[in-house]
Amino acid sequence: MTTSLSLPLAGKTALVTGASRGIGAGIARELARQGAKVAITYWSSSERAEDVVREIREAGGEALAIRANNGDADAARQGVKDAVIALGSLDILVNNAGGGWFESFADTPDEHIEHTIDLNIRGTIYATQEAIKHLPDGGRIITIGSINAESIPFPGGTIYGMSKAAMVGFTQGLARDLGARGITVNNVQPGPIDTDGNPAGGESGAFLAGLTALGRFGTAADVGGLVAWIASDAASFMTGSTVTIDGGWTA
Ligand code: NAP
Repeated sequence: MTTSLSLPLAGKTALVTGASRGIGAGIARELARQGAKVAITYWSSSERAEDVVREIREAGGEALAIRANNGDADAARQGVKDAVIALGSLDILVNNAGGGWFESFADTPDEHIEHTIDLNIRGTIYATQEAIKHLPDGGRIITIGSINAESIPFPGGTIYGMSKAAMVGFTQGLARDLGARGITVNNVQPGPIDTDGNPAGGESGAFLAGLTALGRFGTAADVGGLVAWIASDAASFMTGSTVTIDGGWTA
């Protein structure tokens, strides 16, 4: 990898939550490839987090991993504090850590409801509230929502879809709060992306692929490219936006 100052994100620092694998890892790789120094958080997959860090470093980038449970308010805040100390600054926050269950609402246990709200909503709120103490004017907040915030063409997505729909209002409100500082706040809604959390080869893979116009899953690198562009100076007039990258799921 070149460390040329001409790279779009040269000199920038970034935190990607939940990036030991999947979409978060793809975002971290792309931010680093475009010149940013990247911190990633993880909760249970320490070896895989270290693999992502090693891969970025071997490609000539800068990266480090921090263990932080984004489903716990204090730990989510602490993860951001630790990242700021390790990076020396924070220009870009990517709220990626998330997940959930697809299951009948009537049968959803309290534990799944609370976990989804804690990780997908509260984790994003508290990590962001901590991050805005450190972001400079012109900083970036990018949240990974889901196309299921606006389209769930099958049963079972009530709680997950609700948690991702919350990110739309969060993004709009915060864009207004932070506009005077030139900090942009945007929400990226992927369609089916091939990850551990949603494997293209899994039992629902063919069904989900068939709901897209392209007839296939996207990759973590697809999402990483879009996030890196939103993080760049080229996207400085884009804020409060929710953008889809869904293979035509909603077309
Ligand atoms: P994934 O393959 O299951 O990976 C989830 C990542 O989040 C892992 O790095 C995991 O780290 C981390 N994580 C989970 N719980 C955490 C916690 N409590 N604290 C910190 N990190 C935690 O998921 P993915 O498919 O890449 O999804 C990433 C994001 O994209 C999620 O917000 C998801 O809702 C969204 N999304 C995914 C798709 C899709 O089709 N894949 C589509 C739309 C939106 P550990 O293993 O270390 O815990």
